[in-house]
Order: sequence, then structure tokens, then C-alpha cells
Amino acid sequence: MKIADKTTKAVDLVRDALEKAKKFEEYHCFISMNEARALERAREIDAKIEKGEKVGRLAGVPFALKDNYLSRDGFTTAAARMLEEFASPITATAVQRLEAEGAIMIGRANLDAYAHGGSTENSYFGPTHNSADMERVAGGSSGGSAVAVALGIVPFALGSDTGGSIRQPASFNGVYGVKPTYGAVSRYGVVAMASSTDTMGCFATSADDADLVMKIMAGKDEKDSTTLDDFWTKDLAEAAPSKKKIGLISDFMGDGVDEEVKKAVKDYAKKLEKAGFAVEEVKLPIAKYALAIYYIVQPAEVASNLSRYDGIRYGHRAKDFDDLTGLYSNTRDEGFMTENKRRIMIGNFVLSSGFYDAYYLKAQKARTLLINGYNDLLEKYDALLCPVAPNPAFKLGENTSDPLKMYLEDVMTVPANLTGMPAISVPAGKTKGGLPVGAQLIGQRRSDQMLLNIAKTVEDVA
Ligand code: GLN
Repeated sequence: MKIADKTTKAVDLVRDALEKAKKFEEYHCFISMNEARALERAREIDAKIEKGEKVGRLAGVPFALKDNYLSRDGFTTAAARMLEEFASPITATAVQRLEAEGAIMIGRANLDAYAHGGSTENSYFGPTHNSADMERVAGGSSGGSAVAVALGIVPFALGSDTGGSIRQPASFNGVYGVKPTYGAVSRYGVVAMASSTDTMGCFATSADDADLVMKIMAGKDEKDSTTLDDFWTKDLAEAAPSKKKIGLISDFMGDGVDEEVKKAVKDYAKKLEKAGFAVEEVKLPIAKYALAIYYIVQPAEVASNLSRYDGIRYGHRAKDFDDLTGLYSNTRDEGFMTENKRRIMIGNFVLSSGFYDAYYLKAQKARTLLINGYNDLLEKYDALLCPVAPNPAFKLGENTSDPLKMYLEDVMTVPANLTGMPAISVPAGKTKGGLPVGAQLIGQRRSDQMLLNIAKTVEDVA
């Protein structure tokens, strides 16, 4: 590595990243910068190298941190007024592991408040702009992280994916996005959205880089009982697929999907064929119910997770109120964005007595059918291929007045979250107007490295 070879200094790398962040300020990738602390850490690493001490696998490598990961450096806002000045007493396990290997967080990346959204327009601090077109959305909810990598500010960034928030912005900005198997990376120290579908992953510009970052973050953590043991331990080359067969989900290649998106996915299929894979069309009729299932299960979990923001324990507290109920309601009214409130209301509705059986319970049963549908196909294929989102990046403001239209953008990403399966977004092409378009590969649980192995094979033949 260049730093360990003493050919590059960590301080120079960090300075360079901070300068680029400044140069691209108008894209609004960051909510806050971590300049002083980042330079201090870089100096520490350079001093260690000077003394001949051992440094980690990411020594001096700068990264952007989605601002829903807790860190003791600066405030963790989750892009909401509720946490505008929240100084976390802890640092997330994933971040601790990266920092132990010498990675340096240069800033907190923008997101939709509490990760609710698919465009980064729901941020209390204002939207992030698409890396290829300032008039368009970054995608979301991890929009700031995706754009920071796409603009070359940092070589990797962290995101969270509850229903597509890593893959969709990765697709909109032409970078790799990894949503791992549920439980691959500890959720300890990440602001909870929907606990049964929340996953922690990354953005990078190659399969190898993504593999290294995930390898460092993944694995058992006693602070999150859902984490998997003995996970993400192979060299990428050892994770080769055995069947050499990919299923192209035809249900996601029909009406309502932009022609240029379909073309990019078909082009990626051709590259897979060139790399020695057989690509066959497959049918997955249950997939069309995934969005309805998600928009019942996810708000239910959101409503439960956000109940802790009551203006008493921590975070924002309203100044004007008459009684305790007024304190709660005014605090929540001021601290949350409209989209947060919408989800809390839907969630409490589907969980309320009288509606629980009709909505929540039914959705959980349908979720099992969805898992079975994917499992059946993945017995025959190494991975399933489909678009990431039905459209390329849309215009800022285009979908904000129509929440249902915004939710429809998630139709192809939510299945991997509901099934707990890994899925990656890989750059697949560009529209005539120059907008990046990604393709999505989904695999059986624990096949994360195999998906990246496939992506790397395609990188090599392309
Ligand atoms: N766009 C999806 C939603 O709004 C996904 C969000 C996410 O993955 N955090 O729920």
C-alpha cells in the first residue's frame, strides 16, 4: 500500500479529500466535516509509520460516514432537527472496526432524515445533488455517501440499506453499492429505522474495494445478537459461483420500467454471458407484492423505533408546551420531517388492534411467501439479475408532492431487505442524457462475496 511504502502521507490523502469536499460543496454531500480530528488521526498514522510501527489495512484512507452512524467525532444528526446537536457517547461497531484499521472519517454524509426516503430530499439540512446532473436527485436515503464516492472525494463511504438506500443512490451515481445479508454487519450504534430489514454496507468504485471494506466491518458483534459468526472471511477469488447461471427477473423488466434502464440491464446481461454465465429469464410473480409488504412492515417498525424521541430523554425538546402531552407532540412535530410523521402514523395504524391481523400479520405471512419464491429460484441460479430502480435519477422536487410515486421507486430493492438476502448495485451504463444506471444482483443469504466475485469477473471482461 502506498502509505505503508512511505510514498504517500496519510495527511496528504486526508487534506486532498477535504479539499475536494470543499470544491464540490454545492453538491451538498456533507452535513458536517470532521476536519480537525481527521488531520490529527492522519498525523498519528504518519508518525507510526515513521517509527516503523504496524498500521492497519486502511491506514490513512479517508471515508464519508452516513450521518445515521453514531460516532464520538462531532454530532450525529440522522439529518433531522430532532438530533441536530446530538453528541453521541458511543461509536458504532462498524466505524470502530474501520478506524482500528486506520481508516479516517472526514465528514458526515447527508441522508433523508432517519433514512426515510429515496432521494435525500427529506433532509432537514437540504437535499444532495446528483453527481452527474445538479438538477437531479442523488437518490437515497444514503445520497450524500454515494455522491461523495462518485465525485472522487473519498474512495469509499458507508450507507445503510433498509429498503434500497445503498443500492438506489449507487445506481443513480454510477458506483458500487453493497447491501449485505441481514446480520452481516453489526447494527450497534446505527440509528434504527426498521430493525428487521436494516443492513449496513458501503459504496466503492470496484468490487475489490467493496470487499475489503465489508470484510473489515462484517462478523459477530456481541452488542448485536443478530450478527453472523465467521462471515466474510474469504479472499474474493475463492468465492467463485458454482452454477454459472444467472436468472433475469422478467417481472421487473416490463411495463413501467424506463427503456434506457432495461437496456443497461440487458447490456450487463450480455457482459455476464461474455464472462461465461448462462443468463435465463425467470418469472417471480410474488415479487409484485413486495412493495405492499414493505410499506406495512417497515412503518410498523419505524413507529416503534421512533417512539424513543419524546423530548425527555435526549434530542430536541420543544420550548412551548402546556402539559406533558403538549411537550411530546410539539417536540415530535418540530423534530421530525413530514415523511417521518407519515411513517409513524401508518405504522401505528397497521399495528393498532382491529387492524393488526388485516395488515401487519397478513404482511408477515406474505413476506414468508416472498422468501420462498426467492429461495426456489436461487436453488437453480447463482444470482438473480434485475434493475435497481425503474427510472434513472429524477428531477429534484419531481416526486416530493406524491409519496406513493416516491415509494414506487423502491419496488425492486425492497425484496432483498424483506428476505434478508444480499444484493449489490453495479454500474451498468448511462442514459443518452449521461445519467448513470445500475444493475442489481441478488443472491442467497451469505452469498455476498460470491456476488462481488461475479461483479469482478464482469469488470475483468468488460
Ligand atoms: N426508499 C426506501 C424507503 O423510503 C428505503 C429507505 C432505506 O433503505 N433506508 O423506505
